[in-house]
Amino acid sequence: MQRILNFINGEYIEPISKQYLKGFNPALGMVYSEVPDSDERDVELAVSASKEALAKWGSTTQEQRSEVLLRIANGIEARMEEFALAETNDQGKPLWLSKAMDIPRAVSNLKFYANAALHLNGEFHQTDQHIFNYTLRSPIGVVGCISPWNLPLYLFTWKIAPALAMGNCVIAKPSEITPMTASMLGEVCNAAGLPKGVLNIIHGLGAKVGSAMTKHFDIKAISFTGGTKTGAEISRVAAPMFKKMSLELGGKNPNLIFDDCNFEKTVKISVAAAFTNQGEICLCGSRIFIQDTIYEKFKSAFMEEVKKRTVGDPLNDSSKLGAIASKEHFEKILSYIALAKQEGGEIILGGGAVMVEGRCRQGWFIAPTIIEGLSYDCRINQEEIFGPVVTLVPFTTEAEVIMMANSTPFGLASTIFTENLSRAHRVAAKMESGIVWINCWLERDLRTPFGGVKQSGVGREGGFEALKFFTEEKNVCVKI
Ligand code: NDP
Repeated sequence: MQRILNFINGEYIEPISKQYLKGFNPALGMVYSEVPDSDERDVELAVSASKEALAKWGSTTQEQRSEVLLRIANGIEARMEEFALAETNDQGKPLWLSKAMDIPRAVSNLKFYANAALHLNGEFHQTDQHIFNYTLRSPIGVVGCISPWNLPLYLFTWKIAPALAMGNCVIAKPSEITPMTASMLGEVCNAAGLPKGVLNIIHGLGAKVGSAMTKHFDIKAISFTGGTKTGAEISRVAAPMFKKMSLELGGKNPNLIFDDCNFEKTVKISVAAAFTNQGEICLCGSRIFIQDTIYEKFKSAFMEEVKKRTVGDPLNDSSKLGAIASKEHFEKILSYIALAKQEGGEIILGGGAVMVEGRCRQGWFIAPTIIEGLSYDCRINQEEIFGPVVTLVPFTTEAEVIMMANSTPFGLASTIFTENLSRAHRVAAKMESGIVWINCWLERDLRTPFGGVKQSGVGREGGFEALKFFTEEKNVCVKI
């Protein structure tokens, strides 16, 4: 049994309650760790440490902070195998994916913001010969970062890196479902010379720790990634306190497949977009709209490709899908598959739990599931399932598919497959989403703005956007 501790003021300490939650390895369906059941007292301790550290960290030069962040990135990189295995054991994703995507991306996040922060300019405006304005940026102070369980270290570092780079002190809460790699990060930060109290990591339930962070008067900004309902709750508390907020929320992303697409490429990319990380990526394309002229052809090619995606022990290289992150989520996905049948959908592939032989007999696995025959506006096609479940929906005209694609309350990402350049740009401009991919999926350039519209979020991460979010701006106007 591994006991995880909070990381406060540069030290690993027990939660004040001395109470622990059960941490599961989802592939085994078994408890394997103890996670601090922290509360507002631990948050208070972390805030005090952060406030103490603020003056020192805030007055370091940009270059000094960048160097520390680069050392943290290198520290993770040096322990790549160990971090990847920890991520897989905690989250359930295949080990090859943790090695290829999650941990390398955590390293990239830190390196990117270490470098990007060196290039952030202030503004300068000359009004006339005698008047000019310049803009100063200063750290906000103590900020809160709250992240989910689907891409644990990847999204945790995506938030803390820009916050630290701009001179803030951070109170961070990973999901209590996947706390392991965030916990290991404390060791790396100490070895990298991050001053005590600059980053504090508190584990526990959202309703206790997350909500105590949101309410805390001295935490001046909240950067949150998670579900839309939680985002609404955070806004309800933080907005009247005039906290800065960045909210990256749920998605229900459409894939628009036109009959003039590059067929082979489209099938392969659509399968990856649907089932990577068991469909537990906010950017996954779970509503697949196919032009009726190629519907049947696409359906059979897609099914053949999905059949090759073995579900199995995350430690086996041959497993393309691993376990679902928690029992609760596993049951939620299964309940949506049941709802699909009630709504008149036909399950044409998968449709239930998978029993994996050997050490994973009790794990939480679900077969990649394809459903057809549902209307675009039924619950299955409107609500986020966040699992290996997709629907196929035929369309005839461009106008019709744009209407169906935009019909949900979400607006995170959309993907368009067509070889017609004019159509690609025309449809992209009409998508109600913060991100549009054309003939590709999950190609990420960290310089680009990242985020959603409608109920998928408020604000943008990525590039200079996140660096600006973690600062206060002051315009200075000078008359000579
Ligand atoms: P949740 O909203 O349940 O939780 C996210 C984080 O918020 C967790 O750390 C959680 O803690 C915490 N939390 C829960 N309640 C509160 C509260 N009242 N106040 C403050 N914090 C709270 O999301 P999931 O972890 O289930 O993640 C899946 C969701 O995240 C999906 O909807 C997905 O689309 C979205 N997501 C969005 C992304 C984007 O960039 N737009 C990227 C990745 C995921 P605890 O674990 O204890 O509940």
